[in-house]
Amino acid sequence: MYITTACPSVNLFIQKYFPSITKFMLPFVSPMIAHSRVIRKKYNNPFVVFIGPCIGKKLEKEDFQTEDAIDAVLTFDEMTHWLKEEEIDFNSLEPESFDTDASLRGKIFPFSGGILKGLKNQDCMNEYEIISADGEEMCRDTFTSIESGELKKVIVEANFCKGGCVGGPCLRNNQGIFTKKLEVKDYAKDAVYEISDKKIFDIDFTKYYFDRSLKPLNPSEEDIKNILSSMGKFSEKDELNCGVCGYNTCKEKAMAIYAGMAEPSMCLKYMRDKAESMSNITIENSLNGIIMIDEDTMIKEFNPAAEMIFNCKFEDVKDNPISLFMEPEDFYHVLDTKENILNKKVILKDQNKVIVENLIYIEKQKMVLTILQDVTEVERGKEKLKEVKMETLDAAQKVIEKQMTTAQEIASLLGETTAETKVILTKLKNIALSEDDI
Ligand code: SF4
Ligand code: SF4
Repeated sequence: MYITTACPSVNLFIQKYFPSITKFMLPFVSPMIAHSRVIRKKYNNPFVVFIGPCIGKKLEKEDFQTEDAIDAVLTFDEMTHWLKEEEIDFNSLEPESFDTDASLRGKIFPFSGGILKGLKNQDCMNEYEIISADGEEMCRDTFTSIESGELKKVIVEANFCKGGCVGGPCLRNNQGIFTKKLEVKDYAKDAVYEISDKKIFDIDFTKYYFDRSLKPLNPSEEDIKNILSSMGKFSEKDELNCGVCGYNTCKEKAMAIYAGMAEPSMCLKYMRDKAESMSNITIENSLNGIIMIDEDTMIKEFNPAAEMIFNCKFEDVKDNPISLFMEPEDFYHVLDTKENILNKKVILKDQNKVIVENLIYIEKQKMVLTILQDVTEVERGKEKLKEVKMETLDAAQKVIEKQMTTAQEIASLLGETTAETKVILTKLKNIALSEDDI
């Protein structure tokens, strides 16, 4: 019984979930690591980057047995993105700058069954049944059968992606797996069967696989209670046991969090409560008055800033009509037409205030979200400024009229000039008094 794979995901899968069958795994590094060690030896320790369709290779690079082999791992998607960013057209690169020296046996391993097809001595496999398992489901099924002893005398080549690495997750184009497979076959068709290089004979390609299974944990009741509390579940009635997170009960989910396999944020209720409490904080602390009005123009929500504007408490005005404070016509208009009213200046006579109102229709709740900005102080400032301007202009007018009388006495010389001065000053006065300019 032998299991071989170039796939780091399969390696980890077996070590974590089928530790009893790690003894059947051939004790060698993957082609990525083996190739890198050959490159290091051949080219005097260069910087080695692996580029492929697989995110799992990034994890493999960090393995303590092989961490010296590769300097960086990029996915095809990352490389494509990078070339685009640098405005490099891949097809314009000189073919000579690539070392395409690879054997047929090396070139076909990206698809399912490729490793075993590349074995030099096929006779040695005669007494074994050959299985190519690809995709998570088939891998799990095959390893379960090996673990139970149902499968004997087999050589298994396994890949976690369907079709092998040609079906890898980081090679996103529109091609199907079989098209990709045919392209790899076409690429490999003229390659020599093998390349023999004596220099590589003394490189160490061994790697050991062992039990990395997760040991069962036994959290105390207190631990589980604390985790449940961190998800806002303080009593049994908070435990909805809805199963949305993938666990049947909230306690099962808490166990998974304890084992480091889940996050509190993976609970829909927790996230919704959190979002609601965030929006509550925002509404409570807003400097604008926020009021919710239902379809009968009754007050349903009233934040502290609105309490300040209308000098009242929410509990005293809840379920009372908005006409208690404001003319209701705008609310009727929004409810009837579903058209928002934005940035409208309104005078609240009873409160002696000026506000800017925004009335927004909320379709789902059939309510009007009312946002009020108290601009009383700004308006008072404008009035005061207007008064000061008027006083200044009056004083200026008096001085000018006095000057004009004197000037008219020397009319023959300055007549036209005084008339022009009067026109300009009148214009200035009008500009100064205009609403927009104040
Ligand atoms: S089969 Fe998938 S997960 Fe495994 S090495 Fe290939 S691309 Fe990576
Ligand atoms: S989604 Fe939340 S409430 Fe539902 S079972 Fe999971 S932990 Fe419990």
